[in-house]
Amino acid sequence: MDLYEYQAKDLFAKYGVPVLPGTVATTPDQARGAAEELGVPVVVKAQVKTGGRGKAGGVKLAENPAETQEKAEAILGLDIKGHTVHRVLVTPASDIAEEYYFSFLLDRTNRTFLAMASVEGGMDIEEVAATKPEALARIAIDPIAGVDSAKAREIVEAAKFPAEVADQVADSIVKLWATFVGEDATLVEVNPLVRDPEGRIIALDGKVTLDENAAFRHADHAELVDKGAEDPLEAAAKAKDLNYVKLDGQVGIIGNGAGLVMSTLDVVAYAGEKHGGVKPANFLDIGGGASAEVMANGLEIILSDPDVTSVFVNVFGGITACDAVANGIVAAFALLDSRGEAVTRPIVVRLDGNNAQEGRRILTEAALPGLVQVDTMDDAATKAAELAAQGA
Ligand code: GDP
Ligand code: MN
Repeated sequence: MDLYEYQAKDLFAKYGVPVLPGTVATTPDQARGAAEELGVPVVVKAQVKTGGRGKAGGVKLAENPAETQEKAEAILGLDIKGHTVHRVLVTPASDIAEEYYFSFLLDRTNRTFLAMASVEGGMDIEEVAATKPEALARIAIDPIAGVDSAKAREIVEAAKFPAEVADQVADSIVKLWATFVGEDATLVEVNPLVRDPEGRIIALDGKVTLDENAAFRHADHAELVDKGAEDPLEAAAKAKDLNYVKLDGQVGIIGNGAGLVMSTLDVVAYAGEKHGGVKPANFLDIGGGASAEVMANGLEIILSDPDVTSVFVNVFGGITACDAVANGIVAAFALLDSRGEAVTRPIVVRLDGNNAQEGRRILTEAALPGLVQVDTMDDAATKAAELAAQGA
């Protein structure tokens, strides 16, 4: 889960990383009030979960409260790389002497953590990495040893931070590591980390990605979820513990196993090209078990997407045999019926693998309305695409 800048900086403050105070505003009027309280000049910053806000006109300086209101008015509602700005952060404008870059991240390739630091911060760090790789220091971090002040010193020296800020930067690096570990983050990034004209180091921007697999250790992280920005279907699926991602197409997809579902998306998209360009409507992996309840919940979520005009259930029986899955589908239809959500859109089912024969027999016998069985994945995808195009 990515955090907003203001949330990231709240976490920094909790660990003692120097940040400036700020107020989140959702209206120009609130922004003006915030400027009156904080004192001017201020910077008005779009709160969206994407970088490059500065270049996109989402970060503006305001000299007085009236101007703060105007700038907030211009920024609120702005579209930045597909993200609509619903709130701005109003924060005291800092004078900047120098802009640096710092981050801790998970280095998947080398199976370790990595610190990246540069005295050429502020702008696109990808650009620095591409055009001046020597200006971006990369230091591997042993996850057990972590980052103490000696390790922080090593990073400061590798990145060639000026001597007069070395102590402060090293101190902030230790605290950023504490944030990274303490909050179970996979990314903590500060760009820019600035030196102001008085020589103080301040984290002026912040980006934090939290590892959702560790959510059980952090009851307080639930508050950081942006309920308004969540897709309602994804939120409903999450509440039911389903591994669901909403997509833009018309063919609902249910499969067992992430790999199978991924390839199902591909074959459906391919088959859809010949049927009016229909596409998969979602990713849904019901995993190994495939109980009636999970199947019913999955179908319910998929069918509550008004764009869905057909559903493709693609199951390869393994430890959970196809007869169990078939019984799950039959029970799911009954369960949905009892919930007043009777299945009325066509469902294409492909059962293969362990006990496929018996599974197919159960479905044939049940003669569920609108359910079609197709034996191979490609043919089933074609059938589902065809039905989706007809229903659209
Ligand atoms: P990003 O473009 O989304 O990464 O947003 P940032 O928060 O990094 O802001 C972009 C740029 O705006 C920074 O690199 C700074 O140059 C500038 N900026 C942001 N906050 C301030 C501030 O308080 N004072 C001044 N003078 N410039 C700022
Ligand atoms: Mn930035």
